[in-house]
Amino acid sequence: MIQVLDKKFVPLIKEAEIQQEIKRVAAEIKHDLGDKNPLFLGVLNGVFMFAGDLMKEIDFPCEITFVKCSSYAGLISTGGVKTLIGIDRDLTGRHVVILEDIVDTGLTMKNMIATLQQANPASVRVATCTFKPESLQCDLHLDYVGIKVPSKFLVGYGLDYNGYGRNYRDIYVLAE
Ligand code: 5GP
Ligand code: MG
Repeated sequence: MIQVLDKKFVPLIKEAEIQQEIKRVAAEIKHDLGDKNPLFLGVLNGVFMFAGDLMKEIDFPCEITFVKCSSYAGLISTGGVKTLIGIDRDLTGRHVVILEDIVDTGLTMKNMIATLQQANPASVRVATCTFKPESLQCDLHLDYVGIKVPSKFLVGYGLDYNGYGRNYRDIYVLAE
């Protein structure tokens, strides 16, 4: 059990399982894009651990850069989509892979894919560390999924509760 601010969280997914699924995802990406010089686009802040661990498993030419876009305040997704800031590359003709910490309603990814399509990339794919299938509120295709998780509030491995708890190596769920 860990305490983050005023809430208690219990372990849900251990580091070893996360790392094992990241290796699988890296192999799937290599199969599809290993010879296509992909551009990884990490969505800060939550993705920093997933992006770091995933990139350590990628052994072919690629670039990575980061953008910001957040729709969460406290424990509940606002659904309100914010602007994308920080794209510092020309996406024309590039195979883009968005890296996300977690897909919940899917609205953030849906909106980001639409925004990126306007920059004429060769393709846009999504790789997410975790996915809440029961929370999905739109028609969204996820190309690479690390771990499917229940529709509960999670922290750790990059995920925060009001800015805290990102530093843990396992993923935790809010205690009942
Ligand atoms: P969506 O637009 O899919 O509803 O939400 C996506 C974003 O909400 C994620 O990138 C993440 O930042 C945040 N989010 C969704 N579920 C959780 C959760 O269980 N815990 C935390 N800390 N953030 C979450
Ligand atoms: Mg995120």
